[in-house]
Amino acid sequence: MPSAAVVGGGPVGCLAALGLAHRGFAVTIYESRPAPISSSNGSAAGPSGSTARARSINLAISTRGISGLRAVAPALPGKMDLADMVLDGAVPMRARMIHTGHEQNSQAYSADGECINSVSRTHLNDLLLQQAESHPSVTVCYGHRLKRADFDKGEKARKGKAPADAEGECELMFGVDGQESPSVVSADLVLGCDGINSAVRDQLARTISFDFARSYIDSLYVELSMPAKLDAAGQPDFALDPHHLHIWPRHDYMLIALPNPDHTFTCTLFAPAGIFEEHLSGREKTLAFFEDKFPDALPLMGRDAVARDIAERRPSPLASVRCRPYHYKGRVLLLGDSSHAMLPFYGQGLNCGFEDVRVLLELIDRHAEEEEMPRPTAPAPTSRTHSRSDSGVSMSSRAPSPRALKPHAVSGAHPSTQ
Ligand code: FAD
Repeated sequence: MPSAAVVGGGPVGCLAALGLAHRGFAVTIYESRPAPISSSNGSAAGPSGSTARARSINLAISTRGISGLRAVAPALPGKMDLADMVLDGAVPMRARMIHTGHEQNSQAYSADGECINSVSRTHLNDLLLQQAESHPSVTVCYGHRLKRADFDKGEKARKGKAPADAEGECELMFGVDGQESPSVVSADLVLGCDGINSAVRDQLARTISFDFARSYIDSLYVELSMPAKLDAAGQPDFALDPHHLHIWPRHDYMLIALPNPDHTFTCTLFAPAGIFEEHLSGREKTLAFFEDKFPDALPLMGRDAVARDIAERRPSPLASVRCRPYHYKGRVLLLGDSSHAMLPFYGQGLNCGFEDVRVLLELIDRHAEEEEMPRPTAPAPTSRTHSRSDSGVSMSSRAPSPRALKPHAVSGAHPSTQ
């Protein structure tokens, strides 16, 4: 059974791990954060029980991301698939609501009623981690931070240039929480899903000529919240229309609010560093700023909560990443933010990461099918002799495929790979 090491147990890493596990890989996810309390195999973490508490942002998931969730495995009759589970904890947003200060303008996303879906990143990550942990072919190792990697270990061993002590093509070294000595593991395939500061990407840059750029913008962001209000019957209700992504645009800064199933909204303030320094330092200044710029939002968010959260939470930076190539020799691949982190204003970072997973799984399925087809006895057509597909995965029917990307078929009925 080919082995895959997925570095990073964020949403993209978990989805990729599940997709590979369904295709016959033995997958291990290595996540640097500690295990959640609820984890079946982990040590205790923070009181939240979540591994993703540090980033309590809400994400808008569109069809692009949902297609990635559906690509993992065919839905079983009468059972929810991954996409259904995620959408079950999401709130559909049919339009954006622009708050100008004097009025609200609703702008539909689609003439046909299509929507994007608001989901908490914490909820999404926890759900995917739980699914990964309960899959028999996936092991999740928390508290493991990638330090070094040798992506040519197997090749070197075959040439007698390294001890043949590893079983896989790549060797990875992790620092482990609470352990003095590092953990050294091997794997046939390595997926770098370790986000914007990817260590897999750093190791790749030490291995090959590699173009890389990370660009920060002047704006920072901070998470705020808007509680539920009580309706006439004393039941919790949304303070604003829940089927909108609410935006308070103010030239070079803005406030947004995305709904949650518990009738609250998660709000995010994006602003240049200068605004935080000048106008958001201290209770009086903060409240004066919100009263002036977001007068309709402040009472709904609560004056004390806004002043407290702005004082206590350190604003986070915003950056994008570009790199090239994304892969190495069919056995190392960067997915999600590690390869193309983008600014959140597009609402596409996670959607693109899930799309990466869909495309990878489709290519694996396509090549598995090709390998099942009978080989021609006549000389192979020239179109089959090229060795690169759009993913960099070998398509040649003459040269052997990279060992890592020859998975067993889901059914197990894949003679060429058993
Ligand atoms: P991450 O979520 O960063 O996960 C990486 C994982 O790797 C983490 O769990 C981390 O702990 C682990 N890790 C890191 N280093 C190591 C290491 N050395 N060893 C082991 N593990 C490691 N996208 C959308 O599609 N729609 C939106 O509406 C949207 N809104 C956003 C709003 C904001 C404010 C921000 C900041 C982003 C938004 N995004 C949105 C982008 C989205 O959050 C990211 O694209 C997405 O989280 C990327 O997922 P990932 O799994 O690739 O990386």
